[in-house]
Amino acid sequence: MRAINALDTMPFRPISLVCECGSEAESLHSVGLSPEYELVVHWTCGSCGKVSYLVKTLSDCCKEVPEEADTSEADAFFLASMGIRP
Ligand SMILES: [Zn+2]
Repeated sequence: MRAINALDTMPFRPISLVCECGSEAESLHSVGLSPEYELVVHWTCGSCGKVSYLVKTLSDCCKEVPEEADTSEADAFFLASMGIRP
């Protein structure tokens, strides 16, 4: 596990969290893993107040990994994370 400095940019594809009422999540309670190897995101809808959990298998998460990563950006990010600036 690694922590990313908020001043750095981390390339990633956000997971959409939409409530049954149609509103998007504004904030999360927590993110974790289930005993069944699933990603679990706990959040409350800011519009209707419904408490929701997004549950996604890790294999499904892998299917949503961006296909074409910008290697130059990824390389620059890696170097920056090592404290190396161009
Ligand atoms: Zn809602």
